[in-house]
Amino acid sequence: MRRISIFGATGSIGQNTLDLIKRAPDEYEVVALTGGQNIAQLARDAIDLRAQVAVTADETRLAELRAALSGTGVAAQAGENALIAAAERPVDWVMSAIVGAAGLAPGLKALEQGATLALANKESLVTAGPLILATAAENSARILPVDSEHSAVFQALVGEDIAAVERILITASGGAFRDWPLDELPNATLAQASTHPNWDMGQRITIDSASMFNKALELIETKEYFGVDPAKIEAIIHPQSLVHAMVGFRDGALMAHIGASDMRHAIGYALHWPERRDLPVERLDLARIGTLDFAAPDEARYPALRLAREVMAAGGLSGAVFNAAKERALDEFIAGRLRFTDMAVVVEQVLNKMSQEHDLKTAAITLDNVRDVDHLARMRADEMITITRANNQ
Ligand code: NAD
Ligand code: MG
Repeated sequence: MRRISIFGATGSIGQNTLDLIKRAPDEYEVVALTGGQNIAQLARDAIDLRAQVAVTADETRLAELRAALSGTGVAAQAGENALIAAAERPVDWVMSAIVGAAGLAPGLKALEQGATLALANKESLVTAGPLILATAAENSARILPVDSEHSAVFQALVGEDIAAVERILITASGGAFRDWPLDELPNATLAQASTHPNWDMGQRITIDSASMFNKALELIETKEYFGVDPAKIEAIIHPQSLVHAMVGFRDGALMAHIGASDMRHAIGYALHWPERRDLPVERLDLARIGTLDFAAPDEARYPALRLAREVMAAGGLSGAVFNAAKERALDEFIAGRLRFTDMAVVVEQVLNKMSQEHDLKTAAITLDNVRDVDHLARMRADEMITITRANNQ
C-alpha cells in the first residue's frame, strides 16, 4: 500500500485529490490530512480514510477538531509546528496543496524524507525554486507538477531532450475581466473577480486568474521547474481553457496537451505516474467544441505579466518578494480595502523598493532567507497599501 499525505486537504485541489483516493481506498494508507478553517470537512475525511493524524493550521480550532475526532483513532493536532511534524511522518507520496507561501516548509520536509512531492503549491517554486529542486536532488526525491499547465508541459516533454525545446506556451483563460473595458477594471468587485469562466478553484487563485497574477506566478514556476531561459516562455490567451500548454521544439513541432478543465487530470497523472490510469474526467467532443481560440495577452490589462518578466530576469529572492507582496495585496482586495488594479501597483512598488534596499539577486536561497524576505515584503506592502488607500480617498 502506498502511504500518502495531503497538505491542504480541505481545499479545491485537496478535495479533488481525495475524490481520486476514495475511488481506490485499498491502494492507499492515508497518513496525514491537513486543513485550515473547515474542521468538519477535515474530520469527516480523516475518519473516512482512517488517517493517522488530522492537522488544522489554526491553533484556536484544536478543541473543535479534537471533539470531532474523539474516539475515532485519528490524532488531532494544530498549528505550524504540528504541520511540520505531520510532514515528517514517513510517506511515499505527498500532495502539496496549501495555498500561499505557507506551503513551502511542509513540502520541503516531505522532500527531505525522499517522498514524491505532487506540487500544486506553485508558490514553493516561485519563492524558493532552487532550494526545493536542490532538496529533491539531495534526497533522491521527485517533484511532479500538478498545476495544469506544468503537468501538460511535463507530459509533452516525456522522452524529449529539454535542449531541443524552443519555446513553452502556457495558456490563460484571460480570467473574469478579459473582455472588460480597461477603465472599468478599478471598480471590479470581489464577487466579480471571484468567478472564473472555466475552472472551479479556490477563491485566491480565482482572483489571481482575473488579475493574471496566477499566470505571472506560473511563468516563474515554468522557469524554475523546467530550467529554461525566460525568453522561451510565453503566456497566451486561450478562452476555452482546453489546451493547457504547448511545447515547441527546434524542428518547429508544437506538442499540445488538450483535455477538459478538470484538475483531476493533472492530479491523477501525478498520483499514478509513470503509469496512466483511468480517470473520471470528461472526454472532449472536439467536433462539438468546434473552435479553439488564441490571442496575445495585453500587458496594459495584465501588468502582472510584465512584473513576472522582471522577477524572472532578477531571480534570487525576488520571487519571494513578488509572491509575498501579491499575497498581502490580495488579502486587502478580498477585505475590500484595495481596488482591483491597485494590487499590481502595490506589488510593483514593493519590488522596486526592496530591490533597491536589498541584494535580492545574489542572496542565498535558504528557508530562513526566504522567510525573512517574505516578512519584510509584507511589511513594505502594508506601507504601500496605506499610501495607496490614502491617495484613493
Ligand atoms: P483552496 O483555498 O481551495 O485551499 C487551500 C488549502 O490550504 C485549504 O486546505 C486551507 O485550509 C489550507 N490553508 C490555507 N492557508 C493555510 C496556511 N496558512 N497554513 C496551512 N494551510 C493553509 O486553494 P486551492 O485552489 O486548492 O489551491 C491550492 C494550491 O494549488 C495553490 O497554491 C494554488 O495556486 C494551486 N493550484 C490550484 C488549482 C485549482 O484548480 N484550485 C490549480 C492549479 C494550482
Ligand atoms: Mg494553472
